[in-house]
Amino acid sequence: MHHEIAIVGAGMAGLVCARELQAAGRDVVVIDKSRGLGGRLATRRLGETHADHGVCYLKPKDDRFSALIQDLVLNGVLTVWTDQLHQLSAAGLQLDPRPQPRYAAPKGATAIAKALAKDLTLELNQQIQSIRPIEQGWQLTSQNPEFDLTADVVILAIPAPQALPLVQGIANAEFVESIQSVEFAPCLTAIGVYSQRAEALANRPPAPNSGGAELQGVTCLEDEILGWIGFDSTKQINPEQTTMIIQSNSNFAAQQFDSTDLNTVAQQLCDRASEVLNMPWIAKPELLQLHRWKYAFAINPIDSKFLSATTASPLYCIGDWCGGDRVESAFLSGLALAEQLLVKS
Ligand SMILES: Cc1cc2nc3c(=O)[nH]c(=O)nc-3n(C[C@H](O)[C@H](O)[C@H](O)COP(=O)(O)OP(=O)(O)OC[C@H]3O[C@@H](n4cnc5c(N)ncnc54)[C@H](O)[C@@H]3O)c2cc1C
Repeated sequence: MHHEIAIVGAGMAGLVCARELQAAGRDVVVIDKSRGLGGRLATRRLGETHADHGVCYLKPKDDRFSALIQDLVLNGVLTVWTDQLHQLSAAGLQLDPRPQPRYAAPKGATAIAKALAKDLTLELNQQIQSIRPIEQGWQLTSQNPEFDLTADVVILAIPAPQALPLVQGIANAEFVESIQSVEFAPCLTAIGVYSQRAEALANRPPAPNSGGAELQGVTCLEDEILGWIGFDSTKQINPEQTTMIIQSNSNFAAQQFDSTDLNTVAQQLCDRASEVLNMPWIAKPELLQLHRWKYAFAINPIDSKFLSATTASPLYCIGDWCGGDRVESAFLSGLALAEQLLVKS
């Protein structure tokens, strides 16, 4: 199979880039190693319920990202989740000093990716293992020996450390060194499901200084192990069960990443969240899982919105790490490359 443009990675960066190029009449395929779409825009199905174990919410700054969000709101994918988040520090629990709408998808963050991927040509379950130059363009291989794909242009929309082995030996030193310079911090996410919705919700205290509003999400600024506590089911419309997302900070994730006892690590995160919020029920989930994100947040993103290799056929990198460490930077990166390619043609 041959396509004009092959985009590796169906996260925000890859999907936005593909959407723009396809809308302009270009022949694009998006390939991902996972069964589902979205990358770190991730939702875990848990029986009758679900929880976002990657991206928690979207907080737009750029006008074009705001426009995409408004479009997704109009299409029923996103709603305003809250503008009343909290912070936990040595000074205690306080309202976030910068209230601003945070958007979330009541059906889960992957709904955003599904909406963006509408009408795109997708190849899922294909982990790209090599990109080899051919007479005209590139040959891509995956773990599946029957996968046979060539393309004139390749765009890697994946975290820098995952792009590195694919470009070593085929691209110029400056391109490879830029990718090599970017480090990512890990994150461990505990996902808890609590069957007693009423009890769990009743035990949530009103948030301080918010006229009785309940807690929805807490950024843990100085905790020894926690980074974020999310009352994830409050994003849903009439949730049947309470779901909690408890994210570690990067130090704890680095220390515990290779632990073989995932249950103990997940329980440790729940116990700590229960303790700092003084909510005993958080420590007793009915179902508890742990997700390990090896490449969660770019620590030292590059300055440009995309990287371009000096190769016989075009090869590019995009992603959140090209200019930032959030969904918005992934979006702006994908958009910037698409605009550049369309200007060129
Ligand atoms: C726990 C957590 C919480 C977060 N919370 C927020 C938040 O609240 N707000 C926010 O703005 N940002 C948040 N982020 C950051 C945000 O998720 C990312 O910045 C953004 O989603 C990155 O998008 P991307 O397209 O660059 O990469 P990804 O979403 O990582 O997409 C890359 C895709 O490439 C695929 N892939 C990788 N290698 C290969 C290969 N060899 N072959 C085929 N496919 C491959 C992967 O499967 C993945 O689907 C969070 C991240 C984490 C981990």
